Amino acid sequence: MKTRNVVGMGLAEMEAVAAGLGEPRYRARQIYAGVYRRLRRSWDAFPDLPKTLRARLGAELSIAYPPLGETAVSRDGTRRYLFEVSPGASVESVFIPEEKRDTLCISTQVGCALGCLFCVTGRRPLLRNLTPGEIAGQVLALVADRGAASRRLNIVIMGMGEPLLNYDHVMAAVRLMTDPEGMAVSPRRVTLSTAGVVPGIERLAREPVRPNLAVSLNAATDEVRDRLMPINRTWNIAALLDACRRFPLAERSRITFEYVLVGGVNDSPADARALARLLSGLRHKVNLIPLNPDPSIGLAPPPGERVLEFQQILSDAHVTTSVRRARGEDIAAACGMLAGRARGDAGVTPGR
Ligand code: SAH
Ligand code: SF4
Repeated sequence: MKTRNVVGMGLAEMEAVAAGLGEPRYRARQIYAGVYRRLRRSWDAFPDLPKTLRARLGAELSIAYPPLGETAVSRDGTRRYLFEVSPGASVESVFIPEEKRDTLCISTQVGCALGCLFCVTGRRPLLRNLTPGEIAGQVLALVADRGAASRRLNIVIMGMGEPLLNYDHVMAAVRLMTDPEGMAVSPRRVTLSTAGVVPGIERLAREPVRPNLAVSLNAATDEVRDRLMPINRTWNIAALLDACRRFPLAERSRITFEYVLVGGVNDSPADARALARLLSGLRHKVNLIPLNPDPSIGLAPPPGERVLEFQQILSDAHVTTSVRRARGEDIAAACGMLAGRARGDAGVTPGR
């Protein structure tokens, strides 16, 4: 009976497997490179392994990506993938083609416990953490589906869930993605977004290989942030920015602060000025995200002029700001819209 999946195993674990089979260590390297670098998905695809060994591996170990459910293709080329990671538990990933690079947005938990007011994922209860194999497996599955080259990839850990509340599994997956012997994506091309789990940021600060840090700030005062993001009652803005100030940054890198603009809630000129003041002294850039509305949320984005005015105040205060263009809106693949449920909506093509 197949009991173990090699997708998600690190090299050390594979070495232990090889030793258990009485095989030399270098076999583990062959398997590791085959799975993560060459995207082999069956033992028959390993011509460098003896046939008898392939048969033994096949009897004990699988090479399984998370099972793909439906996929949906947006007018702008964005693709949303639904994975049913276990019966009744689904997550979504998004492939966003861009001119120079392709961006993969991946999930870390089934649902999310943090319940931010503006987020569809936050409406789903947390069912469970994803395993390292399910997290890294989303990258493998999307890359295999699109034939994307790893040197062209950006990976954003911004899908469903709060990555720093599934710390060990997320970091194990990050190591697989960034290992030069594995998927070989540069850590500078991997970004982890957190709602502000301060102990997680502190732990991340001590990692030898770190992804870029993005922080969902979304408000410039505790009063507004308490309302939008319940986590602020545990770690408020001061505690969060303090951890950000201590976060070691590589040369030329900065922390991205995401700010979802919610009409009439956090989008006033006074909010913009307060935000600029908060960020002074931090190596930052701000990513403004006009709210992606969903009927289940009952909030609206600000009108376009208001977004521009907000951005102007920030740039007058020397805050580098970009406005995130919504991608894949028509297939509910935009930020905060991932719910991990099949929708059977227009544009859906059957999964394989
Ligand atoms: N839990 C992590 C990562 C996933 S959420 C975090 O909160 O950072 C990814 C991003 O989507 C966050 O910046 C969040 O603020 C944003 N987001 C959530 N709901 C949104 C919505 N309805 N419209 C636009 N952005 C949203
Ligand atoms: Fe969870 Fe992030 Fe959504 Fe908040 S914004 S509910 S932390 S996924």
